[in-house]
Amino acid sequence: MRKPIVAGNWKMNGNRSLVSEFSSLMHGVDADAVDVIICPPACFLGSFVAPDFALGGQTLSELDNGAHTGDISAEMLKEFGCRYVIVGHSERREDHCESNALVAAKALKAIESGLVPIICVGESLATREAGELEGFLAAQLDALTVSLTAEQLSKTVIAYEPIWAIGTGVTASPEQAQDAHAFIRGHLAKFDANVAANIQILYGGSVKADNAEELFAQADIDGGLIGGASLKVDDFRKICQAAG
Ligand code: PEP
Repeated sequence: MRKPIVAGNWKMNGNRSLVSEFSSLMHGVDADAVDVIICPPACFLGSFVAPDFALGGQTLSELDNGAHTGDISAEMLKEFGCRYVIVGHSERREDHCESNALVAAKALKAIESGLVPIICVGESLATREAGELEGFLAAQLDALTVSLTAEQLSKTVIAYEPIWAIGTGVTASPEQAQDAHAFIRGHLAKFDANVAANIQILYGGSVKADNAEELFAQADIDGGLIGGASLKVDDFRKICQAAG
């Protein structure tokens, strides 16, 4: 039985007043039915007072510490109460040239440090239209399975985020999303069937309060990674309720 997860990725948005609005996020959300995570900009992590949801970072360094201006370590995230960290978001892959190998190294660092990495995979529209979806996803997943043991992989969450659906308002149809999730689970099963059966795979890409339920009802979709709609507490709460 895979417990659904709904994670909000604030990206480079928000302020202290938004942090306060989220103090009542879990009112009406069944915490036994869904795990809720907020990933704010790192500078706001310390502003949440005893949140009744989990906190996550938006990225981390694959290194422990040192002369790496602007980077943030796993231990720093943990010190500010994070249990999760997003790894390999397509915006990081693109804006910061994060390769599949670097994403795997960051995921490994998170796991070794006791953080759960939410590892993002997903294709561009051009890749999908060229019929290369499965090969592309397989390469992203294979970079993980060459670096992680089955036990380590079991301590991760995967997020399928088609790039063409992120922030565009164009959501993958439930069938498109389910097909990609089933492919991901099937591909991971070649590495370890038990891990594949139990790993949570989140969908991300223009999830809104009015389309979440249909997406989350799909057999291989175990919740969502939410960008824009995670900045409005009422909308985000509805999405959490749709998962639980
Ligand atoms: C994201 O960036 O992870 C995301 C899914 O964004 P949005 O929900 O805004 O499409």
